[in-house]
Parts: sequence; C-alpha cells; structure tokens
Amino acid sequence: MDRTLQACRTLRSSALGLIKSGLHPSVISIDTCNRIVRQVCFTKAFFGCELWTEITNTEILLLERAQRYVCKSIQGLPRQTRSDMVNALIGWKSAESYIDERKLLFLGKLVLMKDSMLPKQIFLTRAMEFKYNCVKHQLGFIPYIHRILVNYRLSDFDTYLSTGHFPTYIQWKKKVKVAVQETEESLWRFRTQIDKDFKFFSRIHTLSKGLHPAWTFSRKHPLLIEQCRFIVNLCTLTRPYEEPFFLCDKCGRFFGDITIHIVLSCETFQSKRDKFWCDLIDIGPIEFSAYLHSLTDEDFLACILSCHTDFDLNEDERTMFQKACITNIYWMCAT
Ligand SMILES: [Zn+2]
Repeated sequence: MDRTLQACRTLRSSALGLIKSGLHPSVISIDTCNRIVRQVCFTKAFFGCELWTEITNTEILLLERAQRYVCKSIQGLPRQTRSDMVNALIGWKSAESYIDERKLLFLGKLVLMKDSMLPKQIFLTRAMEFKYNCVKHQLGFIPYIHRILVNYRLSDFDTYLSTGHFPTYIQWKKKVKVAVQETEESLWRFRTQIDKDFKFFSRIHTLSKGLHPAWTFSRKHPLLIEQCRFIVNLCTLTRPYEEPFFLCDKCGRFFGDITIHIVLSCETFQSKRDKFWCDLIDIGPIEFSAYLHSLTDEDFLACILSCHTDFDLNEDERTMFQKACITNIYWMCAT
C-alpha cells in the first residue's frame, strides 16, 4: 500500500508543480501540457511499476483517483465533472491499463533478452515452474502477468513457452497497444451505454476519438485557448433526461436544454445567431450549410460542440468550421 500512496502523492505533486511553474492550462495548449505530464509525471510516479504485483482493488482506486485529479487539473475542468468524460476528452486510458501496458512491454523485453543472461534464465525457470504447476501458490511477476495476458487475450507468451517463437519488440509493442486500447474502449462503451448522463455526451465525443478537436485547435490558435476550454466545459454538462421546462428570464419562453435554447431559439441572441450562421454559410459549398440546416436541434448541437462534421470538407474548411463553432458558441453562451 505504501508504494501506491507514494505513487499517488508523486503524481499529484509533480503535476501541480508543473502547473505552478508555468505550464498552466490557460497559457499552454492542452496537447503540449498532456505530453509533458505523461512523459514527466507518469514516468516519475509509476517508476518500477513493471514489478508491482498483487495490486489490490483499493490501490487501483487510489491510483485512478489521483489520475482523474491530474486530468481535471490540466484541462481546467471542475472537480465534479464525470471522470469518464474527462478522460475521453483528452484520450487518457485508466491508470490500471497504463500499468498493465508497462508490464506487458517489460515481458517483451525479458523474452527477447539473450538466453545467456542470468535474468532471462531465472525468468524462464520460473515461467516453466508456473506452466507445469511445479510450485504450489506461486506468487510474483509470472502469475500476475499471466492474468494480464488472459485479460487482454494475448496468447504470444504461451506460444513462446511451447514453440520458442515470439514477435519482435516493435511488433509486440504495437500488439500490446492495440489490445489495451481495444479493451479500454469496450469497457468505456459498456460503462457509458448504461449511464443516462452519457446519452448526449457519447454523440459529441468518445474515448476512441482521442483528443477533443477543440484541444487540437488550441495548439495552432493559442489566443483562443479560453474559448476552446469553454466549449470543452460545455460538452461535459449533464443534460436533462426528460423535458423539464425552465423559464428564460431574457425572452420569457420555456426551454428544456439551456444550450439548445441559447444557440437555436432564444430571441435575445438573434443577432449573434445570425452572425454564427453567416460564418457557417461562408464555409465550403452551399450544400454544407443546407446539410447543417437539415439537422435536428440535438444533432446540430452535437455537431457544433464536437467541432466535427461528417460532411466532406477540406482541411482549411474544417479549420474554419472549428473556429466558427468555438468563437461563436463562446460569444453567445459566455458573454
Ligand atoms: Zn431565452
């Protein structure tokens, strides 16, 4: 337990230290901040995790909490935001899968080590003891990695013990990353499909899409970081399940979803809405604005909040669309 508590403390303190030293999300793009945190804080906090065994569920929970805290801090999102949303917006997998991936890559290095080296000989002896049940209640790296291999449906190590064949390190690394990503995505889908809070969010963004387009956009347009963060924050809002009606104090009409009301129907924002549509009409062919106009209210909102459209646009037009969404939604909803 001590090593886990130490890892959690290191992860939190090193990430906050980086933020306080100037890598604040309001100054630097999230993409850059994300890379630095992954390469510096994660490497430091999870140093030697390849050899951690018998990790209990409580320890996993502590590590996940520490990771969520860092994930929310670097994106500048409120602490109450749903964790599966926060992780998906930046493309982060769970802390458990991060440790599993490191262990699997370490296994690849052990297997591909020269046969004459002592660590390889000890490893093979213990692996054979486990395979043929020579030791009762064997503990340590081998039984733990066996459970991980079963979880990710990787059979290469069993094949290696039987035939001596194992992929090259590059092939193994690719295979591990794909297996971990697929398992994480299916778990994320399973968790979010049964949760009403994710009904609208999964139309905007999913774990498989990686970084939210607004975060990618902020890398090339640093002056619009605040607007980008506002859009991402808006994506994480939990929408009403049914249609409760609230009274708008600006136009005096009832509404269900506040964002749909402001962007699509509130009379107070008519001039800003006209400007937004002028910007959208300026992008690409006229068929694009006709396509946007044909969408239902919810589909249109999902499209502009995701800053992504299925319509075939070229690179410049796609950037113009993202900029129009980010600046106009901020202008309408935040001011
Ligand atoms: Zn209104």
